[in-house]
Amino acid sequence: MESSASVQEARQSIREEVRRLCQDFPDTYWQDVDKHEKYPQEFVSALTESGYLAALIPEEYGGAGLGITEASIILEEINRSGGNSAVCHAQMYTMGTLLRHGSDEQKSRYLPAIAQGKLRLQAFAVTEPNAGSETTRIETRAVRKGDRYIVNGQKIFISRAHYSDLMLLLARTTPYEELKDKTQGLSVFLVDMREVKKGLDIQPLDIMVNHHTTTVFFEDMEIPVESRIGEEGKGFRYIIDGWNAERILVASESIGDGRWFIDRASKYATNRVVFGKPIGTNQGIQFPIAKAYAHVEAADLMRFTAAAKFDRSEKCGAEANMAKLLASEAAWEAADVCMSTYGGYGFARDYDIERKFRETRLLVAAPVSNNMVLAFLGQNVLGMPKSY
Ligand SMILES: Cc1cc2nc3c(=O)[nH]c(=O)nc-3n(C[C@H](O)[C@H](O)[C@H](O)COP(=O)(O)OP(=O)(O)OC[C@H]3O[C@@H](n4cnc5c(N)ncnc54)[C@H](O)[C@@H]3O)c2cc1C
Repeated sequence: MESSASVQEARQSIREEVRRLCQDFPDTYWQDVDKHEKYPQEFVSALTESGYLAALIPEEYGGAGLGITEASIILEEINRSGGNSAVCHAQMYTMGTLLRHGSDEQKSRYLPAIAQGKLRLQAFAVTEPNAGSETTRIETRAVRKGDRYIVNGQKIFISRAHYSDLMLLLARTTPYEELKDKTQGLSVFLVDMREVKKGLDIQPLDIMVNHHTTTVFFEDMEIPVESRIGEEGKGFRYIIDGWNAERILVASESIGDGRWFIDRASKYATNRVVFGKPIGTNQGIQFPIAKAYAHVEAADLMRFTAAAKFDRSEKCGAEANMAKLLASEAAWEAADVCMSTYGGYGFARDYDIERKFRETRLLVAAPVSNNMVLAFLGQNVLGMPKSY
C-alpha cells in the first residue's frame, strides 16, 4: 500500500504537470477561442495526448486508472490557469456510465479508443425543453423495432455534440402514463453518431458562454439494440449513479476559477494606484477579496472530503452536493469581487475577467442548478418534505 506521503507527492506532480501543459495555452489563446466561438481543438488534443483526459479510464482499457481526487485536481488546474475545462470535462463523467453499466463488449470496443483519443465521448443528452430539471418527464421516445430502436424527440442545451463521436442519450422506452414508478421506463443509449445515417439534426444554440451548446432533433433516428447500455427501463438509475462524480468535478472547476479570480484581484488591488495609493489598501476592496478567498478554501475542503469518500467507494451524495454548492457560490463571489476590483477594466475583453465571469456563473446553474442541490440536501439528507 502506498504511503500517504507518496500519494500526496503523486498528486502534487499531476498538479504541476497540468499547470505546465496549460502554460502553452495562455490567456490570448482562450480569448481568441471565446471571441470566435471556436472549439479549443489544440488544447483538447494536448490534454488527450498527455493521458489526463483518460484519467478515470481503468488501466486495463488503456486509461490512467486514477481516482476522482486526481481527476478533480486536473480540472481545477485547467480552470485555475485561465482555461475552461468545460470544453472536455463531460468525457470524464459520462465515461462512468459506460464503465459501470456497459457490457464487456461495449467497454472493450469504446474505452480503449476513447483513452487513445481516437474517439470522443463528449456529448451527454438528457435535458429537454418540456422537462427541464424534472428528468423523469422527458419525452424523447426510443421504440424497439426488431434489432433497432427508432428515436424521436428533442434535446436542448446539449454541449459539444458537434465535437463528439459518441453521445450518451437518455430516452423514454415506456410511456410515462404506463409507469407506476416514474423513475423507471427510461433507457440509456451510447449513440455512435458516425454511424447514424439519418434523423439526427444538431443545431447550435446562441448562448452567453462558448460552450458549443446545441439543440438536438431526432426524427426516426435508427440505432442498433446493442447501443443500449444495461437493462431497458433502468436508465435513470444509471444516470443518477454518475451524478456524484459530476458534482465533485464541477466543484473542482469552480475552485480553480475561484483561485484564478482571487489571484487576479489581489494582484490588481496591490498594483492599481488611485488617490495616491494602491486600491487594495482600502478595506472596501481588500476585505471582500479576503472573504471570497476564505470561502473558496472552505469549499476546497468539502471537495476533497467528497472525493476521498468517492474514491473509497463510500456514500458521498451529501458531500458531493455540498461541494458543488459551496464551490460554485464561492467562485461566483470571487468573480463578482474581482469585477469590482478591476472597475471599468473588468469589462474589457483583454483582461479576461468578463470571460471567466460568464464561465463561472454557468456552474451555479448547470449541470445541476443549486436549487436542486439544496432540495437534495433538505429532503434526502435532512429529511424535510419534498417540493416535487
Ligand atoms: C451552457 C449550458 C450547457 C448545458 N449542457 C448540457 C448538456 O450537455 N447536456 C444536458 O443534458 N443538459 C445540459 N444543460 C442543461 C442544464 O443541465 C439545465 O439547464 C438544468 O438542468 C436546468 O434545467 P432548465 O434549464 O430547464 O431549468 P428549469 O428546470 O426550468 O428550472 C429553472 C429554475 O427553477 C428552479 N426550480 C425548478 N424546480 C424547482 C423546485 N422544485 N424547487 C426549487 N427550484 C426549482 C431550478 O433550480 C432553476 O433555477 C446545459 C445548460 C447550459 C446553460
